Amino acid sequence: MKKNPYIDKNGQAWPYGEFFGDGFCKFAYNNSNANRFFPKARQEALDLGYTWNDEAEHQPDATISGSELPETIEEVDESILKEIISCTTCERKYKIASLEFDLLRKMNIPLPAQCLKCRENSRFNKINMPGLYDRVCMKCGINIRTPFSPDRTETIYCEKCYQGKFL
Ligand SMILES: [Zn+2]
Ligand SMILES: [Zn+2]
Repeated sequence: MKKNPYIDKNGQAWPYGEFFGDGFCKFAYNNSNANRFFPKARQEALDLGYTWNDEAEHQPDATISGSELPETIEEVDESILKEIISCTTCERKYKIASLEFDLLRKMNIPLPAQCLKCRENSRFNKINMPGLYDRVCMKCGINIRTPFSPDRTETIYCEKCYQGKFL
């Protein structure tokens, strides 16, 4: 018979069926996606028991700037794999990996002029932030909360009307 909650050697209780504690996270808060959705200052994160990465990123010297990259992939050969490219937005350095180069060539996509972080940021800026909005069921008119913001075009039903329609 397993003990529930399990108490570890530090006296920390781990109830069955609950999420793992923050101590399980191997990523510093400022390196994790949690910081994108719930941004916290360094001290605030440390006070909550998260770790914080203060290490300065090692940046090699660039051999080429992102703005000097050719506009089409046909104009580039394998020698690009040796280049250290500097991002046109933040100047962080990045390289093109061999498999990435093969894929870009296959899909006829030009080399990225931005670093991985900037590309990640621009993708993130396009997604909807999680949240609930107060809206009205479009069938019976009761107040509901939904992740669909008022400017969305989808038809929004309360649970009862939704189940009446689809079940
Ligand atoms: Zn960048
Ligand atoms: Zn309804």
